[in-house]
Amino acid sequence: MTTTGRIHSIETCGTVDGPGLRFVVFTQGCPLRCLYCHNPDCRHPSDGKEATVDDLMHEIQAYASYIQFPGGVTVSGGEPLMQPEFVRELLKRCKESGFHTALDTSGYTDLEAAKPVLEYVDLVLLDIKSFDPDLYTTVTHVSIEPTLKFARYLNEIHKPAWIRFVLVPGLTDPTPNVEGLADFVATLKNVEKVEILPFHKMGEYKWEQLGYDYQLKDTQPPTSEVVDQTIHIFESRGLKAA
Ligand code: SF4
Repeated sequence: MTTTGRIHSIETCGTVDGPGLRFVVFTQGCPLRCLYCHNPDCRHPSDGKEATVDDLMHEIQAYASYIQFPGGVTVSGGEPLMQPEFVRELLKRCKESGFHTALDTSGYTDLEAAKPVLEYVDLVLLDIKSFDPDLYTTVTHVSIEPTLKFARYLNEIHKPAWIRFVLVPGLTDPTPNVEGLADFVATLKNVEKVEILPFHKMGEYKWEQLGYDYQLKDTQPPTSEVVDQTIHIFESRGLKAA
């Protein structure tokens, strides 16, 4: 019997969620409440639409010739690890069909439930929203501890990972916060690169439509100079950053 889950949407030829050209499945439901979230309509697990693994595989196969290695399939969200059985089955089927698989996660999860999912993941895109614990909670409304535990586990099992950090002026950009994250990431031998994602407001209209209070309406994207300085902090720890 095919496994059923809830998804927010799909993107058939994504270029920003992992290497190459990718089929991206955005799952529904997220336990975080990031102030800059550009998909706030992902948060409630019962929203979105039902999808079966069979249906998704049928759609993915239609794009097989476009998403060959180094491209592949990325499962993003929302938080994919809120639906571990569904996501595991989907990734397993993708691996059986020969696709490279990536999982985009905040790492805020029950690690024991996540472990069987990771068996079918080639690359983890781990979003670490900040390093200072209080700031992390301000940004996400949850604790950083599960994410750090998740990151250490990935290192332990030598799972290739890219770290993603959203740079928000006046929020996540204080130097001690960035340096703390860079120092932590430098201890992880499985990290292939760090992606600095400049804050943008493309999701602002969704916050308004949903009647949520968008606290970053006066915040501007970081200047290229600030982005470069942030990249430099990671590079100075021997990390590849862009
Ligand atoms: S983890 Fe992603 S989907 Fe969830 S609230 Fe944060 S930015 Fe939005």
